[in-house]
Amino acid sequence: MTNPRLHLVLRTSRRIARRTASRTALRAAAIGGLLPAVALGAQVRPARAAAPPANPDVFLVPLSTAGGVVKVGVPANITRREGYDNQPSFSGDSRAVFFTSNRGDGQSDIYRYELSTGLALPARKTVPESEYSAFPTRDNKALTVIRVEADSTQRLWRMPLDAAAPSVMFPDIKPVGYFAQADDSTWALFVLGAPATLQVVHTGRPGGDVVAHNIGRSLHRIPGTARVSYVQMGGATWYVMILDPNTKKIDTLTRALPGSEDMAWIDSTTIVAGQGSKLFSFRRGDSEWKQLADYSFANISSITRLAVSPSGTWLVLVGDLKPRVTVAARTVYVDKIDPKAVMRGVQILAADSMEGRMTGSVGGLRAAQWIAEQYKAAGLTPVGDSGTYWQHIPLQTAPPIPGADPQTAPRAVRPRPVDSWAAWNLIPPAQQLRSANIAGMIRGSDPVLRNEVVLVTAHYDHIGIGRAVDGDSINNGADDDASGNIALIEMAKALRNGPRPKRTIIFMAITGEEVGGFGTRWYIAHPLLPLEKTVVDLNVEMIAHPDSIAGGFGKAWLTGYERSTMGDLLADNGIPLTPDMRLGQRFFERSDNVAFARIGIPAHSISSFNLATPYHIPKDEASTIDADHMAQVISATAKALRLLANGVKPEWHPGGRPEAPAARAPR
Ligand SMILES: [Zn+2]
Repeated sequence: MTNPRLHLVLRTSRRIARRTASRTALRAAAIGGLLPAVALGAQVRPARAAAPPANPDVFLVPLSTAGGVVKVGVPANITRREGYDNQPSFSGDSRAVFFTSNRGDGQSDIYRYELSTGLALPARKTVPESEYSAFPTRDNKALTVIRVEADSTQRLWRMPLDAAAPSVMFPDIKPVGYFAQADDSTWALFVLGAPATLQVVHTGRPGGDVVAHNIGRSLHRIPGTARVSYVQMGGATWYVMILDPNTKKIDTLTRALPGSEDMAWIDSTTIVAGQGSKLFSFRRGDSEWKQLADYSFANISSITRLAVSPSGTWLVLVGDLKPRVTVAARTVYVDKIDPKAVMRGVQILAADSMEGRMTGSVGGLRAAQWIAEQYKAAGLTPVGDSGTYWQHIPLQTAPPIPGADPQTAPRAVRPRPVDSWAAWNLIPPAQQLRSANIAGMIRGSDPVLRNEVVLVTAHYDHIGIGRAVDGDSINNGADDDASGNIALIEMAKALRNGPRPKRTIIFMAITGEEVGGFGTRWYIAHPLLPLEKTVVDLNVEMIAHPDSIAGGFGKAWLTGYERSTMGDLLADNGIPLTPDMRLGQRFFERSDNVAFARIGIPAHSISSFNLATPYHIPKDEASTIDADHMAQVISATAKALRLLANGVKPEWHPGGRPEAPAARAPR
């Protein structure tokens, strides 16, 4: 019998396949990809040329295990490129994912994706040697890798993450396919052969002890122990086994999922594994596997390798992608946005006279007044209190901290929310404070759809006056988020001048975002149009600078892209939007959209923040922005708004809607 996946694998290692006898190709292929160990041996086929290369990608999945219940979120593709990306593992600090990448020339190297920056760069680039299956050493100073050496020898190597020379670890054990470290000196190795064997080796001791035959490629140390799990193949049923490498004692944990040889440990009692598009967990003592998720909505056809972060908060998995059915692009009216108007707007809203727009401050009030005037000039219908653009919000001054200097303790001046105007009336007048959301609408044209609401939002508050940097203490907030507000104003003008949308659109400048989300909290308690009829919130946050990860000039990314159908819906219609690649930043939870998302409304933020531009410092000024880039992004966002107002409603993907409110970091 031949393995139907075999031909796919061989093509992933073209360089190796070309230069060698097919047996070597098979070894490398077994390391690199999808080939079960049992297929190795006599059934050797030369590579054929025509079929497409395997294109596995690496996906990051939020993970939680509160109260022993395993929960997983939606998978985000962190490799997103043609070609081979596989064999992920986490760095010891859980801030990075190492993976094997083959970038077209047959050369395989270990790359490092950083969760906070979204960048994936080579951990070490070595030519002509290829490396596979990286796993950080226990001191996190090096990677243990399977290295295919210049002469095709395949052994376990230690590859320091600095420039120091790599060293072979067990010179006489070869060819090695996979490994797990049990303790400081003990390793379990998958040694290729017919059949493949599991061998226990000790540093400084020659040779290895064969403890099992016909094993799978998935070897893992069980967290908190010196034992190693592996999958016993060879029969019709495969089993997950537990080996104590020091006593050589072997126990059966459970049956493996049929056809599934990859797994990972969440903790010392729970494993996770994939089968097709589905993810399962098994807890020691249970009688069967439990389904955690079905990722067919993410177009994952087959889940293979998995790893769990040491922090227990992330899962990474390898998935093969099936072709996605894209929706035919609609014809959408294109609004022209003038970069000069954009620049003028940012200059006003981020002027020193706005005093950093702290919620409840005079500068914040001045900014609100200016935005209300712009909404009026754009022809938006007032939708706030008593026929105005204003939705007033009661606040209370923070109690003064005795002896605090506001220059060094700016947080001391933060206001606090008040639940109602009745409660506000009972506050001593000296502590009464108010702020407002500014809201205007375009009433929809369709007799039915006009009852549905599309929200487009941006927070206009910022962090006020703070510590002086180079003699400047005003945090102007040009990018954060004057840029989003100018986007709303320019879109309001454009949409009033173009064809009228079918759904009703509310444009809302939100207050209190930087101090705890007071503006959205008040709006959700006092919606201006029914929340049940609100189909989406498109939030615009920090679009004043291009971001190379999103594609640079004129392009943007969408927070929580994978969570709902919105990202693909917009991208399929030609809007230059990419997923947010900096998942470690949790940007989805760091702006006003998340409050709407938590009550079930599909809600995302468009941004092009690139981490490098001024953020929450006085230097975030109009003089630094790129108005041409902004105008492009606003034009794209206006197109997105028209689609959302006229077309289909976005829906959450399974597990995409965020759960109960959690502590939120201000942005
Ligand atoms: Zn912001």
